[in-house]
Amino acid sequence: MIQAETPFGPGLAFASLASSSVFGNAYLVRGAGSAILIDCGLSRRALEQGLLELGVPPASLGAIFITHEHTDHTRSLCLKVSFAQKHGIPVFAGREVWRSFGYAYGLSPALREEVRDGDEVAVGELRVAALEKPHDAVEPLCYRVSLVGQEWHSVAVVTDLGHLPWTLADSLRGASALVLESNHDVRMEMTSGRPRYLIERVLGNLGHLSNEQAADAVVRLATGATTQVTLAHLSIDCNRPELALDAVAGALRRQGLAPSVEALPAGGTSRLYHTGAAAVSA
Ligand SMILES: [Zn+2]
Ligand SMILES: [Zn+2]
Repeated sequence: MIQAETPFGPGLAFASLASSSVFGNAYLVRGAGSAILIDCGLSRRALEQGLLELGVPPASLGAIFITHEHTDHTRSLCLKVSFAQKHGIPVFAGREVWRSFGYAYGLSPALREEVRDGDEVAVGELRVAALEKPHDAVEPLCYRVSLVGQEWHSVAVVTDLGHLPWTLADSLRGASALVLESNHDVRMEMTSGRPRYLIERVLGNLGHLSNEQAADAVVRLATGATTQVTLAHLSIDCNRPELALDAVAGALRRQGLAPSVEALPAGGTSRLYHTGAAAVSA
């Protein structure tokens, strides 16, 4: 069936297929023989094209993990025939997330899986830990993906985060790669001309991390083991990559940490990021 022996290459690697509220969110994480998506908020065709660009045939995905029900994270799930249904991929989401969809998604019950805070799911050599996060959604989760037997080698994918509680920081600290939201510049958001309620939602405790909040978060999460920080879910209207990069890289530098820091493209496929030395046989 969908069990693939596909040799994707050694170690743990990740990429985004899009990373914004406008173009959607989907993050590929793959080991040598298994690959997953975190979120599928693009059109079916865009997901298929992006995966092929990254050398991962869609049907070889072992699972899709949903962070929350917002459309920019679930677009290809809420179709008559979802991306997951077409390619026979199991989808993990919180019970309340499934409930929020009602029957408005094209996925057979056999492919629906429940996941909740504290769960660890094995997908081939990948181990996916689900962790609750603060965001204005019914059951928001983020994920830390590691290699079985090499748990120090991990990618944490954390977008749509109102703030960083210490319990979540404890669970994410020291990941080899952080995919972290740096959503907006506060001044640009405040002067955006958006409706007041929307601005308050974004800035609120259950909204999105600003550049300054991402900078504060990253120094709580990164350690000497962190080799890659990749900024995600940047607002197209209320942020600029150089502002986010300045804030986060500056904060890391002041802590004496020097991981590579890059911003993901809002739309389109990013490059493939390898998480540190791929000491597969170590
Ligand atoms: Zn989002
Ligand atoms: Zn959201």
